[in-house]
Amino acid sequence: LDPEEFRRLGYAVVDWVAAYRAGLGGQPVRPPVEPGSVRDRMPALPESPQPLPALLGELDRTVVPAVTHWQHPGFFGYFPANASLHSVLGDLLSGGLGVQGMLWSTSPAATEVEQSLLDGLAGALGLDPAFTWAGGGGGTIADSASSAALVALLAALHRGSGGAWRETGVDGTERVYVTAETHSSLAKAVRVAGLGARALRIVPPAPGTLAMSADALADMLAADVAAGLRPVLVCPTVGTTGTGAVDPVRAVAVAAAPHGVWVHVDAAWAGVAGLCPEHRGLLDGVEFADSFCTDAHKWLMTAFDASLLWVRDAAALPAALSITPEYLRDSATDSGAVVDYRDWQVPLGRRFRALKLWAVVHGFGLEGLRAHLRAHVALAAELESRVVAEPGFVLAAPRSLSLVCLRLAAGDGPTRALLERVNASGTALLTHTVVDGRYVIRVAIGSVATQREHVDALWDALRTGRPDGP
Ligand code: PLP
Repeated sequence: LDPEEFRRLGYAVVDWVAAYRAGLGGQPVRPPVEPGSVRDRMPALPESPQPLPALLGELDRTVVPAVTHWQHPGFFGYFPANASLHSVLGDLLSGGLGVQGMLWSTSPAATEVEQSLLDGLAGALGLDPAFTWAGGGGGTIADSASSAALVALLAALHRGSGGAWRETGVDGTERVYVTAETHSSLAKAVRVAGLGARALRIVPPAPGTLAMSADALADMLAADVAAGLRPVLVCPTVGTTGTGAVDPVRAVAVAAAPHGVWVHVDAAWAGVAGLCPEHRGLLDGVEFADSFCTDAHKWLMTAFDASLLWVRDAAALPAALSITPEYLRDSATDSGAVVDYRDWQVPLGRRFRALKLWAVVHGFGLEGLRAHLRAHVALAAELESRVVAEPGFVLAAPRSLSLVCLRLAAGDGPTRALLERVNASGTALLTHTVVDGRYVIRVAIGSVATQREHVDALWDALRTGRPDGP
């Protein structure tokens, strides 16, 4: 494919994507397909080159009918992964440049655009200047909040061992503190780091809430230290996956401080709301954390993958992770004047992810991003009022930003049946959680294309779909 032919075919691909997005509202959000149906339809690998239109035809025939349409305006499941078309264009630019930014010297712009964007976003989120490069910290774009949590844990293990961990590994006394609502990626990080399940301490919630009790944390830390164990990391969540609960970051950090425990704030979904001054209170106490993570690929219009991770000490991740074989040695690294992002992650190679994030911020402006977040929060607030006012419906947890959790007073069976009925209709996709032992429907508003009419349609489907009708 030479550049001229690429130009011609590229237009066809852009046309295809534009038509797909324009026609999304008419598709069922989740396709009714059986396991194996796509594999059965996949054509054999061609021996000879095939024309692009044939591939686009296969996408229409084989792929699209079996895609769960995450960009559908009726997608309310999990947390939406909103891939604005600005970010799609940014991804195209990144692929077009095709650089690999493992070291500063392997593409200085890839590193410095990322550094600069993360500094700018730290300011826009109101993060403590200590998280910026000038303040001694810095930000990076990881592939996922799960990876961000893992590297935070590795840095915490290294720091908590007085720098011995990278030589000696773990000794079984390390402990990590979470709640029952913490995302499973923390448990996975503990497993990957070789700590074993016993290392994971579940801190109980404050009475009547789903948020971590800082008092209980303080007690557990003191008891563990007295027993000769080594508290390594505590992870307060801002916006838990189930209900959007917010752990008291400030009080957690105060409890952790006497023991030198690393505080990693997981704000994967909710953190970007800090762009809006009226929601910045959610980030109270983050200034005392060692690391803070929020996903641009959940609610900040940026196509997966773009998880933003800031650390207070720019030396912490390289201290834990840097390994330099001879072929990676270069004078820029040796000068100490540059950041090599390979030392901030597990893999060596890395894409120029910052370009799609830049395309988003450039295309919407911070004001546009705030408007996007505010619109979803307003739609969720309306839905919440409807749930509260509707006999037979129960608000299962306080609304958190754009996440509404509801159930039917009639019980778990009818609530589950309602979710299944709505999902089977194809007009919306909902997922569930369990709160206080009860089955709960989550409505996560956050898809790029979701407007009032789509939330109205969802509410109609919920009201009319319940077993006893409206
Ligand atoms: N943390 C929280 C609070 C989440 O809600 C999620 C995903 O929903 C994650 C972490 C994991 O995100 P990722 O897919 O970026 O690893």
